[in-house]
Amino acid sequence: MAGVYIHIPFCKSKCAYCDFYSHGRYNTDLQTSFMHALANEWLQRQHEITEPIRTVYIGGGTPSCLSTTHLDEICSFFREHNSIDEFTIEVNPEDIDDRLLRFIEDSPVNRVSMGVQSLVDDELRFIGRRHDAAKAERAVEALRQAGIKNISCDLIFGLPLQTFESWKYSLDRMTDSINPEHLSAYLLSYEHGTRLYAMRSKGALQEAGEDLIHDMYDYLCTASAKAGYEHYEISNYARPGFRSRHNSSYWTYTPYLGLGPGAHSFDGIDRAANIPDLKLYIESRGLIAETEHLTPDERTNERIMIGLRTLEGLDISTFDKYDEIKKSAMPYIANGQLILKDDRFLSVAENAWMLTDSILVDLFV
Ligand code: SF4
Repeated sequence: MAGVYIHIPFCKSKCAYCDFYSHGRYNTDLQTSFMHALANEWLQRQHEITEPIRTVYIGGGTPSCLSTTHLDEICSFFREHNSIDEFTIEVNPEDIDDRLLRFIEDSPVNRVSMGVQSLVDDELRFIGRRHDAAKAERAVEALRQAGIKNISCDLIFGLPLQTFESWKYSLDRMTDSINPEHLSAYLLSYEHGTRLYAMRSKGALQEAGEDLIHDMYDYLCTASAKAGYEHYEISNYARPGFRSRHNSSYWTYTPYLGLGPGAHSFDGIDRAANIPDLKLYIESRGLIAETEHLTPDERTNERIMIGLRTLEGLDISTFDKYDEIKKSAMPYIANGQLILKDDRFLSVAENAWMLTDSILVDLFV
């Protein structure tokens, strides 16, 4: 099985925390030029997929910035591919209107991922989101009315202005009232080049302290489990049967093709990355992929990094350096932060998932 990811490099405005590749200034002509390049990239590179396509993910940027004519065109790439069982589009709540709902109803899209981030208006304003909490709730309701049965919502914890109580409010409202099938909850990270990073450097915001972050994470684990979500990846929670198949394929080393500027691809052995440059992408008619060759040790380390983020963990018995990895893991197994099942499957205990980054560097070969 294989997946296809399509990166739409447009956003109507830039959120203060975001370092994803996207353009805030665009017009219809630029989007049309992008679509020509995208169609050509698909035409030239679809042969790279040698297995049936099972998942498609239109992400970005903000795919819901595109006209429905362009979104229809993207869907038409997959007309002949009847093996697709999960077809996701990312949307901004502010873009949910009759036009987009009609497109979704008539398209092969069967999963919608919505960036909600918080259900507290002051927090949303601070991070530059275009919508308020009420709009996000109405957008999910409208998607339900349109028959979408698989909705994922994103939340962020550790935001400036956020308190334990306001995080609890957002999370409770999400799980009790909005009730999506899938929830992604990320710890805010201050990425270089973002507005929040600049504000923090100038001392213009109060960063959440470690104790608060741990309390928020503990509550997230407890409340999501109580609400019936399975914590199946470090930042992802799903009701039974609603794990993200597309994202899960990243964690299980399934090949995927990434289209659009900044998108990444994986053929099972090597990775490739499209240069994040829209102008170059358009000029080269979508052909700006650069292959990245990994050494065997780099591949092992990458698998450790990805596999340890999941509930099932990593089957270390498949590695030549099994003994070395197991030896490095022993102190963490002894203190309960790592779990080794059947002498094969190594995973991080849920209460230590916030420490994953520091644990895994000690396991690298
Ligand atoms: S968070 Fe989403 S909507 Fe905001 S700038 Fe980033 S890609 Fe665009």
